[in-house]
Amino acid sequence: MPVSKLGITPKLAGRLSLMGLNSVLDVLQHYPRRYHDRTVRAEIAELEIGQEATVFAEVRRIASRRSRQGRAIIDAAVYDGTSLLNVVFFNQAWRERQLPVGTEAAFFGKVEAYKGKRQLTNPVVDVLAKLGENTGTVVGVYPQSGKADVFTWQLRKIVATALEWVQANGGLADPLDGSIRRELKLMNREWSIEKVHRPADLDESRRARRRLRFEEFLRMQIGLVGRKRAIAEQQGIRHTVEGDLVSEFHAGLPFPLTGDQHRTIDEILADMASDAPMHRLLQGDVGSGKTVVAFTALLAAVQGGYQGALMAPTEVLAEQHYLSSSSLLAGLTVRSEGTLTGERPVTTRLLTNRTPASERRRLVVELEAGECDLIIGTHALLYGDAPIKRLGLVVIDEQHRFGVEQRALLRARGGDGAPVPDVLVMTATPIPRTAAFLIYGDLDKSELREMPPGRAPVTTEWIGPDPVARERAYQLIRDEVMAGRQAFVVCPLVEGSPRIEAKDATTEYERLAAEELSGLRLGLLHGQMKAPDKEAAMAGFRAGEIDVLVATTVIEVGVDVPNATVMIVDGAERFGLSQLHQLHGRVGRGGGSSWCFLFGDPTTPDGEARLQAMSDSTDGFLLAERDLEIRGAGEVFGEKQAGFGDLKLGRIPRDARYVEWARKVAEEILDDDPELARHTPLREEVEDLLGDDVEFLFKS
Ligand code: ADP
Ligand code: MG
Repeated sequence: MPVSKLGITPKLAGRLSLMGLNSVLDVLQHYPRRYHDRTVRAEIAELEIGQEATVFAEVRRIASRRSRQGRAIIDAAVYDGTSLLNVVFFNQAWRERQLPVGTEAAFFGKVEAYKGKRQLTNPVVDVLAKLGENTGTVVGVYPQSGKADVFTWQLRKIVATALEWVQANGGLADPLDGSIRRELKLMNREWSIEKVHRPADLDESRRARRRLRFEEFLRMQIGLVGRKRAIAEQQGIRHTVEGDLVSEFHAGLPFPLTGDQHRTIDEILADMASDAPMHRLLQGDVGSGKTVVAFTALLAAVQGGYQGALMAPTEVLAEQHYLSSSSLLAGLTVRSEGTLTGERPVTTRLLTNRTPASERRRLVVELEAGECDLIIGTHALLYGDAPIKRLGLVVIDEQHRFGVEQRALLRARGGDGAPVPDVLVMTATPIPRTAAFLIYGDLDKSELREMPPGRAPVTTEWIGPDPVARERAYQLIRDEVMAGRQAFVVCPLVEGSPRIEAKDATTEYERLAAEELSGLRLGLLHGQMKAPDKEAAMAGFRAGEIDVLVATTVIEVGVDVPNATVMIVDGAERFGLSQLHQLHGRVGRGGGSSWCFLFGDPTTPDGEARLQAMSDSTDGFLLAERDLEIRGAGEVFGEKQAGFGDLKLGRIPRDARYVEWARKVAEEILDDDPELARHTPLREEVEDLLGDDVEFLFKS
């Protein structure tokens, strides 16, 4: 039901729309961000200089003037029944409109003395009531969108109308029936929606939020558990996991597998041998040795006559995998009727957006003829020209950049009627357990915890804008290069503009070549370079012909050059924690001492927290937890991940308990009613949340 039905002006409806509020339901689910309890307050008469306090007071006087520099200054006086208090705002001309005389608001700030009077300067303000408005003792404050001017009192009025409208039209359906609610001690939805907006006291708002938060997580978990079960019901491929190819591959490795590699390989092969399609996550920190595990699985598919695909998020990484495949798989053969010896080498092909058309055509022919065993590529794999007919396994590397829909596309890549291939998702971003329930709740999990032997700890240091300390870092690069080692310099991230980023990287490359690193052999690598140039830079670096690679984040994932021992990340404050951790994982691979210098001048508390966290710990799991705390799940995993847009009250990792609770309840509900035939409102809401890519979820 569109919000315009609530008797508001089209102009106001337009503003609400700017805030993403289009339907009556949107309005009802636009929850207060916080509450003020007016019975708990500081009295102005009692305030002391230096004290931080929240006062609830009415605006008595407000006026604007200009400073000599032309800045807007707003002078106000507010009164709370005990005394008057001066409030001053600088550069916030809009306050005059927000706070007309008679408005009641909460003012939070530190009390200062100015010309012998007490004053709050630029306090945090929440409007509680406009002149003459009657509100309860507990008042909710709504999140405002920067773009739209919708006042709190307007929102409150619209919400009230919406609630009345709901009551007049038969009330709100509740996706949780009475027995579930009783069992879980949850309030009903209508009560909760009403009380989240208009609680009589803080306890009511708490109970309302508990119910609504649980419901958000339950919807997601029903979708995820449903998807997991639906996939398990499909007809998959029974791979021949016992065979020569895999054992020859392992015998040819220059190192023994770690215990964790053995264990995860067993888990994966057991899935592949079974009837149901595999849908598994392989999680392991940077450098934990996922590549060997992935190729084992791919070869297991090949030895049974299937084709395997490996998809990477960037061209550089796809190329890297392609290159390592040629050395990893050297000497391995498969049976082939058409040849003299009855066998031919395992054949791997690369497919990215840069693959020329002629090569693509050849690839199609090879795929059809079964002459290509493994295909490695980027997103281009998703939309290939021809079905990969004998597709038996898809490995997706660095998964957090791919969404659920893309996983589904790949699964369908065999074409109509083809069996459903197995899917193995690999991620180096350590995912805290609770978040994993959200992001990968539809996957089984395998984990590489143990690192291969020979990895040295990396000394990580955050360096502010201090030329002397920075020079020390460059000196270390020069020393290491003298000792035959190599280094990375990572250039600042420019959000949303690969072109500017590339330009900046080029400038930095030229500057370093002329100044700090002159005399060393520098290479440049950025996303805007042509594929052959990129390849040449990477190959030169790998071969040791380049001492220092100046690069953008294209090197973030998967680049494996054990001889690199120093990394400088410039503009480190702009990177997310998991990105920094990934970058950091590019050094320390060769067994010698390694260093990672984060050049960063954070301008926000978040940026500072990230750099601090990086220099405090190298434990990927701890960092991932911190990252979630600092940025929130939506930011970390991308809003697009199914359902994050739906988290309005829920927050990860704070609500870890809710996630596990909802998981358990979702499983119980689906055990009992797999098609949700007896839970129609719940079913409808989950389908609504996940969109139509999941039609197949709840049908028998
Ligand atoms: P990631 O999990 O980050 O993809 P890689 O698969 O690239 O890690 O492995 C990192 C490095 O460790 C590579 O140089 C690889 O050859 C090496 N490696 C992998 N497994 C072992 C092992 N069992 N013993 C020793 N080195 C190993
Ligand atoms: Mg890797």
